[in-house]
Amino acid sequence: MTIIPQPILPIIVDSTQLNCFSSCPQKFYNEYILGLRPPDLSIDLHAGAVFSATLESFYREVYTNGLEIPQALARAYATFTHQWGDFIIRKDRHPKTPENMWAAVEDYVNTYPPRSDLVQPYYTSGDASFEYSFAIPLDLPGFPRHPVSGDPFIYAGRFDMLGRKNGIPVIRDEKTAQRLESNWSEKWDLRSQFLGYCWALQHVGIPCNTVIVRGVIVTLTSIRQVEAEKLYSNHLIGRWFEQFKRNMNRLVACWNDGYFDYNLGDVCTQYSHCQFIPLCSSSDPANWYDSYEVRRWNPLDRNPTSSNAVPTVSSGNQPQMSMSSSGFAHTNSGAATKTAATAAFTSN
Ligand code: SF4
Repeated sequence: MTIIPQPILPIIVDSTQLNCFSSCPQKFYNEYILGLRPPDLSIDLHAGAVFSATLESFYREVYTNGLEIPQALARAYATFTHQWGDFIIRKDRHPKTPENMWAAVEDYVNTYPPRSDLVQPYYTSGDASFEYSFAIPLDLPGFPRHPVSGDPFIYAGRFDMLGRKNGIPVIRDEKTAQRLESNWSEKWDLRSQFLGYCWALQHVGIPCNTVIVRGVIVTLTSIRQVEAEKLYSNHLIGRWFEQFKRNMNRLVACWNDGYFDYNLGDVCTQYSHCQFIPLCSSSDPANWYDSYEVRRWNPLDRNPTSSNAVPTVSSGNQPQMSMSSSGFAHTNSGAATKTAATAAFTSN
């Protein structure tokens, strides 16, 4: 049976989607409007999501329940095995096996023991803030409305910890990778994802302009931890915001025109080649739809492609969310969620 994907312009946008749109609007159309994805789930997305969920569980046991490290790790291992589930790695000699990813968790905890880690959770009313999500309505001057619903778009994101270092709010985010690139630290200098996180926190009243990036490098033979601390000037955050606004207007213009531009350049062939080359090469792209599955991207999910659910946040009626005039915070566990006029803050 031929798949006929329904074009749906997402109302919730995140940095991954916007980066895709910047690099190739046609890719954005295929991936985020039609929801087309290769049938195989990404091992990198899966392993990264499992790692993140496991650390969140570990930190909850340490910071919220007061367990010692061995007991907290034992509880986290249960989370790890549950989250990994029956996922099968289809690529030969891929380093992100469950054994290696668990070893990476243990190595991370040994490298950054929570009690002496310079980055400690940000506390509000006694709750630690590991795993932080935000969703901010773009009901702001210069931003377009969603052309179908008429509602503001929502800018969403999630990162591994809102913390404090030397008393200053910082974002901490882990990145798992299979190799350490020579420019690993520099590659975050203009990272729109992190600039957007800083903007979002500042928008809800948390004066943060620092991101601690922790790389967890998992190869077939070794595990390595690296760290970079990035300070983003308000000038740079402002530049990101202006570009963000322009990109949102371009996105709506493409939708209204019914035409999403093609890159037809380096983006088509970088990394392991764009997954949509068959569509872009064909006189009738619909002939290729059967080669894909429709899985909608949900920016508020730890593994955004793991389900077919379409995020439908439009008026604060999403389960486990509360909304303020400036945004809402979200917790996967359904644990306490606090939102104030000046701060959207989640503690798990
Ligand atoms: S193949 Fe090239 S033009 Fe087509 S969606 Fe991918 S990046 Fe864009």
